[in-house]
Amino acid sequence: MTGLISEVGPRDGLQNEPEVLDPAVRTDLVNRLAATGLRRIEATSFVRADAVPQMAEAESVVAGIERHPGVDYAGLVLNRRGFDRLMTTSLTRVNANLAVTDTFNRRNANASLAEATALVKEILAASVLPTTVTISVAFGCPFEGRVDPARVIELASQLDADEIVLADTIGVATPRQVSELIGQAASLGKPTGAHFHNTRNTGLANAIAALDAGATILDSSVAGIGGCPFAPRATGNIPTEDLVYLLEGEGIPTGVDLDALIGISEWLEGVLGRPLPGLVYRAGNWPD
Ligand code: ZN
Repeated sequence: MTGLISEVGPRDGLQNEPEVLDPAVRTDLVNRLAATGLRRIEATSFVRADAVPQMAEAESVVAGIERHPGVDYAGLVLNRRGFDRLMTTSLTRVNANLAVTDTFNRRNANASLAEATALVKEILAASVLPTTVTISVAFGCPFEGRVDPARVIELASQLDADEIVLADTIGVATPRQVSELIGQAASLGKPTGAHFHNTRNTGLANAIAALDAGATILDSSVAGIGGCPFAPRATGNIPTEDLVYLLEGEGIPTGVDLDALIGISEWLEGVLGRPLPGLVYRAGNWPD
């Protein structure tokens, strides 16, 4: 099951941190992560720099990547312009994003659900790269509350993606809900992934539930960097080191060098100048 983890720290992590890092530092982070055995890294997103200054100069970040064999380098896109920018780079995977609720699409991407769905279908038709679709707020929406799993499955079944990832964007899911929704999504017959934020400390429990229900990819961020745009004091994605420690302990090989990953989190703590949410990088690997 190696290849199970998609590292999203350089994208979802940094995008939701207050600091704006130079493209060279963001490239350095991607290159360090690629050397740990991680098989997929989401390197950046292609959004407007005035809207998301943390992701400015995405093309420069990608240009500096020292490609590691066997590593899949993904980029996130929200619209056609972002997709067209990604296609001019050497990235190897597209991650097209939309939300399952109408209100979230309108607030986040200035499009109705119907418009966002049509746009993702257009990207899927145009893409010559492996293409993931991530469905945001699949477990709960800050504007519409609880989301009926049937709505998520109905949307997922319309999208001819290589892989569908269901995201708990605001970190509200609990394991039984995860088992139900991931189980239904996996039964559609496509590789199914899960993206958890640890906003309410349920992220790792949800990750295990997702695996048990058939998920084959889990998003996580180094040191748990990131946040939640709708919960200003919230922590970020589930921390990659904590996930690796947990999975390896459960007998699920990740192919990741945990000590090397802990070293990156220590370095990143220095770059950002404060303790980061991950626990394993602070406590250390065990046994040494
Ligand atoms: Zn996220």
